[in-house]
Amino acid sequence: MADHNENFAPSAEHLKAQQPSGDGATKPDQPPQPTETASVSSSSRDTKREASWPSVLFYIHLNILGVYGIFVLFSHTSLITCVFTFLLTLFGILGVTAGAHRLWAHRTYEATALLRFTLMIFQTLAGQVTRNATERFGKRSALLDCSKSCLQKLNRKAHWGSIYDWVRMHRLHHEKFRTVDDPYYSDKDFMHAQVFANIRKLSPRQEQLLAAVDMSDLEADGIVMFQRRFYWAMYLVLFVLLPINAPLEYWGDTVQAAIFVAFSLRYLIVLNVAWLINSAHFVWGLDKNHKQSDSNMVFVVTKSYWPQYHYLLPFDYQSGEFGNYGSGCTTAFIRIFAAIGQATKLQTITTEAVKRGLTMAVDSGRPIVE
Ligand SMILES: [Zn+2]
Repeated sequence: MADHNENFAPSAEHLKAQQPSGDGATKPDQPPQPTETASVSSSSRDTKREASWPSVLFYIHLNILGVYGIFVLFSHTSLITCVFTFLLTLFGILGVTAGAHRLWAHRTYEATALLRFTLMIFQTLAGQVTRNATERFGKRSALLDCSKSCLQKLNRKAHWGSIYDWVRMHRLHHEKFRTVDDPYYSDKDFMHAQVFANIRKLSPRQEQLLAAVDMSDLEADGIVMFQRRFYWAMYLVLFVLLPINAPLEYWGDTVQAAIFVAFSLRYLIVLNVAWLINSAHFVWGLDKNHKQSDSNMVFVVTKSYWPQYHYLLPFDYQSGEFGNYGSGCTTAFIRIFAAIGQATKLQTITTEAVKRGLTMAVDSGRPIVE
């Protein structure tokens, strides 16, 4: 059985280290107060984010094809393709939640090489394309401009939505939570955080901050770096060709089902779920003004104060991406692999003191460490 630290007690330094730079109680409509470093510029020009038109066009097409996939799902799709699509979707989501988020971004547990390899394959099935990748793709026409150095260019440029790039963006999101430097910042509403933040270029300052994120732990992980290097090839084979080819080749389903359901609809679902990880705090209670709190202490942790919990104590493996706690398929997945010895050192906190601390932090607007 895995080393299951149910009563893991964080030190004050640990809590401070995990604390986002934006005050956890800062209201979204307050002027952002980014924390500056001497080397990072701060003019409005450096924080301005323009639309990434390749991203906009890409996501418009994906939405149209994916929505049409819903019609095909109920009219031209066999049951086995539905099951196949469901499994690929589930694996892709687990790759982002159990892998990129809880394992690699927050180190909430440790995993053997076998589990890390499995999660790396799953994360590739999420097929995320970062806005940087679409910008590069649009500017450089990387695939069309396939000259003699094409493979070298792709290796160097096309990291796309690899674990490494996902984690770097998510760490910046935590570090600059609720400031203009947060890549998923929105001073308006959920739609801006979920959609518009994902189709804008990063500001010059965000690019600088992103380059400064400490990624040394992932750089020491051979599986992560292997995926980063060959992401473009794995993306084409595992994410594009396999889901389209399998229904046609192995059980003779229609071309429509393969393209619009197994690929487009699945892509649309996984992408939106993955985006939701960074914008979920808008849905599951940003602050007391958005959602009424409950006097039940369990509900404090599981629902109303979830953003305060995850953004202050992100190392708890049971803290679900979508406002749940201790339940959900990702937590079950980690526990199953812990039971067979593939996941170890699961970190969590169950003390009443933390729950009381959360309540006080929210009521007083002061950080939990105080
Ligand atoms: Zn997180």
